[in-house]
Amino acid sequence: MAAHIIDGKTVSLKIREEAKQRAAVLREKGIIPCLAVVVAGEDPASLSYVKAKGKALAEADMEGRDIRLPAAVTETELLDLIANLNNDEKVHGILVQLPLPRHIDENKVIAAIDPAKDVDGFHPVSAGNMILGRPGFLPCTPHGVLALLKELPVSLSGAHAVVVGRSNIVGTPLANLLTRRNVNATVTVCHTGTKDLARHTLQADILIAAAGKPALIKPEMVKPGAVVIDVGVNRVEDSSAKNGYRLCGDVDPAVAEKAAYLTPVPGGVGPMTIAMLLRNVIQAAEAVKI
Ligand code: NAP
Repeated sequence: MAAHIIDGKTVSLKIREEAKQRAAVLREKGIIPCLAVVVAGEDPASLSYVKAKGKALAEADMEGRDIRLPAAVTETELLDLIANLNNDEKVHGILVQLPLPRHIDENKVIAAIDPAKDVDGFHPVSAGNMILGRPGFLPCTPHGVLALLKELPVSLSGAHAVVVGRSNIVGTPLANLLTRRNVNATVTVCHTGTKDLARHTLQADILIAAAGKPALIKPEMVKPGAVVIDVGVNRVEDSSAKNGYRLCGDVDPAVAEKAAYLTPVPGGVGPMTIAMLLRNVIQAAEAVKI
């Protein structure tokens, strides 16, 4: 039987609607939730993500401050900008779109963001709070994946989750969130050092692909009836497409014949990432003392 395709867009719209209602409550108190989005350079993927974020903010009656910088911006200029945004009371969240131009140290820039405005959840303080299970900002993509999983009629407690990928923004925090007591999954993390990837993925009740490799996960690597979450967003050449490329995930679409649930790309995890970002901006704005 073919997998049920998980509609991330519909789930994300519920979260965005909730953010909109919380934004309205804040507006009544004179607070307009505001996210500053900083982009350096003209990376087409970054510009399209930023556009989607701006649209989502507007639809939730929140403010987006779009700050575009040339690719040649210096690290000092960027750090000065972050310092100004940290001190700007009207700005509740700061998002620096990655990747940054190569001459800029991303870690230094992320660490310069006030942790109270770190709505991407990438600051070491946010990462530390997450690992310790303390309140703070959770990174949007892993948090979005968790929210999607919680929508499914499957038990996460006791399930074996296999995460393919260990990046600081997806795989590692996701593995951490899944092992928390309130989720209670048992987690295996795979990476390029993993010998025989399929041996691990075949054990997964919940398989999460976050490797950035088109169609890495084939049907023969999936346990029948598994939940498969495809985080990957890869641009592959396609001469039949208007712009010469199409988006595809890390999971071969033929996996739908094996899995019980599968997220599509696009329309699965992507919309959830944006919804969780809005939620974090609201969380930051609600924390403002008035
Ligand atoms: P990343 O920083 O490149 O990390 C990829 C991870 O996958 C690394 O840990 C790497 O292992 C592992 N990996 C790569 N090839 C592998 C293979 N053949 N077998 C096993 N492991 C492998 O990427 P990322 O930032 O985590 O993003 C992953 C994907 O998710 C990308 O396609 C990205 O575009 C997408 N993404 C989507 C969203 C969304 O909102 N939908 C958000 C963020 C990212 P090593 O550590 O050993 O190198």
